Amino acid sequence: MAKTLKETKLWLTRVEPLEGESISHFLGRFRRAKGNKFSTPCGLGQVSGLGAVLARWEKFYFNPFPTFEELEALANVVEVDVNRLREMLPLAGVGMKHKPIRLCGACYAEEPYHLIAWQFKTTAGCDRHQLRLLSKCPICEKPFPIPALWIEGRCLRCLTFFAEMVDRQKAY
Ligand SMILES: [Zn+2]
Ligand SMILES: [Zn+2]
Repeated sequence: MAKTLKETKLWLTRVEPLEGESISHFLGRFRRAKGNKFSTPCGLGQVSGLGAVLARWEKFYFNPFPTFEELEALANVVEVDVNRLREMLPLAGVGMKHKPIRLCGACYAEEPYHLIAWQFKTTAGCDRHQLRLLSKCPICEKPFPIPALWIEGRCLRCLTFFAEMVDRQKAY
């Protein structure tokens, strides 16, 4: 039988969101945190009552846009404020790219996580480093996995670390 939220919460580990972090990356970190052990979005979807919608958010599909009630249900499980969760999503009216997943290797070398701003349609480059974002592995051309699956921070095919890819980024 499925555990109730109250029972589940007893063994959940809280994960602190990072500045500008995307919801996909945060959910992946939360699911894998010591003690949480949600190997897929399904388990977390079940506990939060959100079902399959979390798997869609991990892939940056926000249509229909997450409602306050949905964010509240998630906030209840992950113990992060609703407004803080809202910051991991695009602002209203900002177009999202759900594919390809993009990254700035220079940012990743400094802070290893995926920024929600990298998936905005209007974002062409990294303002901090004046570099164009990468939209696939510059060595072997394999697309990047969704950020929820970024564990080691490297290409799954050629094993190049994201942080090393900065050498292949063009000026912006
Ligand atoms: Zn950068
Ligand atoms: Zn590669």
